[in-house]
Amino acid sequence: MDIIKNLESALVKHGAEHTASTLGDRTKYIGMSDIAKGAECLRSAVAGKLGIKGENNCLNKQLILQRGHWFEGGLVEALRGNSQPFFEQLEIAAEVDGVPIKGHLDMVFVSADEIHVVEVKSMEAIPNEIYKSYQMQLYAQIGFLEKYFNEPCFSVQNSPHNLTFPEIVEQTFNVKLSSNSTIKGSILAVSMTEAKSFDGFVPDANSTLQAELIAKEIWQNSQEVINGTKTLNDIEYCLKFYQLCDWCEVQNNCPKFTAVKLADDNFDSFIADLEQMKIDKKKLAELIKIKENNLIKFYQNSNLINDWLETANYRFKVSEINGRNNINIKEFCKEVKLIIGESQVENLIKKHTKQGYPYSRLQVSKL
Ligand code: SF4
Repeated sequence: MDIIKNLESALVKHGAEHTASTLGDRTKYIGMSDIAKGAECLRSAVAGKLGIKGENNCLNKQLILQRGHWFEGGLVEALRGNSQPFFEQLEIAAEVDGVPIKGHLDMVFVSADEIHVVEVKSMEAIPNEIYKSYQMQLYAQIGFLEKYFNEPCFSVQNSPHNLTFPEIVEQTFNVKLSSNSTIKGSILAVSMTEAKSFDGFVPDANSTLQAELIAKEIWQNSQEVINGTKTLNDIEYCLKFYQLCDWCEVQNNCPKFTAVKLADDNFDSFIADLEQMKIDKKKLAELIKIKENNLIKFYQNSNLINDWLETANYRFKVSEINGRNNINIKEFCKEVKLIIGESQVENLIKKHTKQGYPYSRLQVSKL
C-alpha cells in the first residue's frame, strides 16, 4: 500500500465532504469567502463559483488547504471550555437584488451588550498586516450581521427555520440582547507556533456595499459563463502580483500566465534544482532557529549574567538587547496633520520620499 497516495486521495475526498456538509451546495449562492476572493481576482472567484477544479491534489497543497479546518475544530473545542457563549458556523442568508448571498461565520461570541465575530485564518507565518481579502470577508460578515439583524436570516446547522439575530441568540443561549448592543469583528490568525488577533473591525456601510457589488459581479459573470455569452478567460483577473495565484484552481489556463514554451528541456531541471534549494534553505533556517533557541534556553537556565561559556572550540553568551525603535508612520502623520495641516504633511512626505533602484524580480510557480 502506498500510504502517501492513500492519504492524498483521502484528504481530497474528506475536503469535498466537509465543504458539502458545512456549506451546502456552494454553486447556489455567493459566500463571503467568494466575496473575499472576488475582492482580489474576479476570474478566480467565478471559477470557484462554477466549481471548476484544477490539480490541487498534491499532498502538500492538501495539507495546507485543510489545516484551517483542523485548527478551527481544535480552537472551537478548547473555547467551549470557557463560559462565554458563542455560535459556531452561524449562517446568514440574504438576497440582494436577486443574488443569493450566504455567510458562515466561524465564531460569534455573544453577551447582552456585545456581539463579537471572529474569523479564523490558519497560516504558515503570521503577517504584520492582515490581507485585504480577509478584511473584506470580515467586513462582509459584520456588515451583513448589522444589516439583517432584525430579519429572519440567521440559522445554525440543522435549524428547522431562520430567525432574526436577537431571536436566535435568545433561543440558543437564553440571552436577551440590549437595544444598543455593539458589533465588532476580529481576524484570529493562527500558525503552528503563534496566534495573533487583528482587532478593531466594526460594520462599515461602504464596505458592506462593496461586498454586495462584488457578490453581484461574481453572480452575473457566473451566469454569463453558464449561458455561454462569456468564457472564463473574458473575465477580469488580477494583473498585479497576487500570492494566491500559486493556489488558484484555474492558474494553468489563466491569461495572466500566457507563456512561450521553451524548447530546451534543461531549464526545467535547472528550475527544479533552484526550487529544491529554496526548500532546503527554509528547512535549514528552521533548524538553525531551533538550535539557537536551545542554546539560549540552556544559557538562561544556567543563571549566568553576562559570563561567557566555553566549549573546546567556541565560547558563547546570551545578552539582553533592547527592542528596535519603530515609528508608527500612520499615527505620526495623523498627529502632525493636526498641527501643520494635511497638504504640508503631504509635501514633506513627497520631498523626503526616494524611490529605490529598479530591480529584477524572478517569479517561479509550479505548473
Ligand atoms: S491565476 Fe491568479 S490571476 Fe489568474 S485567475 Fe487565478 S488568482 Fe486570478
